[in-house]
Amino acid sequence: MHNKFPDDFLWGASTSAYQVEGGNLNCDWSKWEKETGHENCGDACRHYDLYKEDLAIAKALSHNAHRLGIEWSRLEPAEGVWNEKAWDHYKQVLDELFKNDIEPILTLHHFTLPLWLSEKGGWLYPGSPDIFRRFAEKAARTLGTRTNYWITINEPNILAILAYFWGQWPPCHKDFNEALNVLSNMLRSHALAYASIKENAGKTARVGVAKAVTAFHPYSLLSPLDRYAAHARNSFHNHAFISSLIKGKIGFGPLKGEKLLSSDTLDFIGLNYYFRQFIRGGRDILKNPFGEVVSPPPRAGKREITDMGWEVYPEGLYEAAKSFSKYCLPIIVTENGIAARDDEKRKIYIRDHLTSIMKAINEGIPVKGYLHWSLLDNFEWDSGYSKKFGLIEVDFETQKRRIRPSAEYYSKIIQTGLPNAREE
Ligand code: BGC
Repeated sequence: MHNKFPDDFLWGASTSAYQVEGGNLNCDWSKWEKETGHENCGDACRHYDLYKEDLAIAKALSHNAHRLGIEWSRLEPAEGVWNEKAWDHYKQVLDELFKNDIEPILTLHHFTLPLWLSEKGGWLYPGSPDIFRRFAEKAARTLGTRTNYWITINEPNILAILAYFWGQWPPCHKDFNEALNVLSNMLRSHALAYASIKENAGKTARVGVAKAVTAFHPYSLLSPLDRYAAHARNSFHNHAFISSLIKGKIGFGPLKGEKLLSSDTLDFIGLNYYFRQFIRGGRDILKNPFGEVVSPPPRAGKREITDMGWEVYPEGLYEAAKSFSKYCLPIIVTENGIAARDDEKRKIYIRDHLTSIMKAINEGIPVKGYLHWSLLDNFEWDSGYSKKFGLIEVDFETQKRRIRPSAEYYSKIIQTGLPNAREE
């Protein structure tokens, strides 16, 4: 039984390009914000210019890994046209990480699409997998010597459902079959990108996806309908994408059974974990196998609720790691964090989620790293700037950074390797 994290554990924080960089006006999100009157992402944290300062803080906080994204709409502003200056910029960012001894974990796609691609239909466009492959190939050729870890697509299910089924995110469609098509195109895209990264960045490149995982629990443990619906959500939302990649076949929807380029196109699994949801199965289970999300039952006890309205349930991270261990792949927690104006809550959140990971490691589950969401307060998509996820507070008027006490606390954990390191 260990009570310390392994010495080679990856410790750090996560960001995405659009949420921190600023000045990204050439993508679907920026257009959507303008058209719908949503809060504008605008300058964000001006991380595109201030990255050296931000990475120096990460270094000072003892981070040895950092998840960052590259913004496709900057890099390929028109179809087939590369903006070499922007590619150079990311080379410099990766060099800065290298100088600071920080291992990069590079995301190719994190929700935003270049305008020209969204105008063709975005992820619904039948040619999107090949277009993504071309982007991955260029990234591997240009940045391949500067990063070992690659994440092709961030949270495929969240984007497919929120943007193509719930109509909440651009392009605001409401069609479940479209969401299934989007997921199928993302599966094809990942498989193609995987092969291309290996070919162009070298066989030692480690390629994964960042998968959103929710702890789905039945509202009543005694109700077969509730149990069925929670199970259906777990199979579809949490596992179907990953298991399709491993089997090399689309595992759901009208294209079920279609072969992907190859099987086993994952070198690690990235888990993004935030919360638990309770599920009630409707009587019409055939029409709606996924049931409804309902408020927690009394047995859940009194749990903290984040500023996003999400229930804090640290045990869920252990449950997620355990259920993904069946794939026998290394697991990296690529996101986990809390929107909280009260920073004390962030400390407790970090401590309790790391305790859950420690438990998983003690059971032999290969969790290799933890990347807290997020390094900086940033642009929280359709919730704008009101949600404070950062280890570092950002004053969006002055762009001044202030290290939060929770960041110092996390740094102590990194230094000692103890999940609940004492504060001085
Ligand atoms: C996304 C992030 C987002 C975070 C908090 C994840 O779904 O990958 O971009 O900011 O959750 O909502």
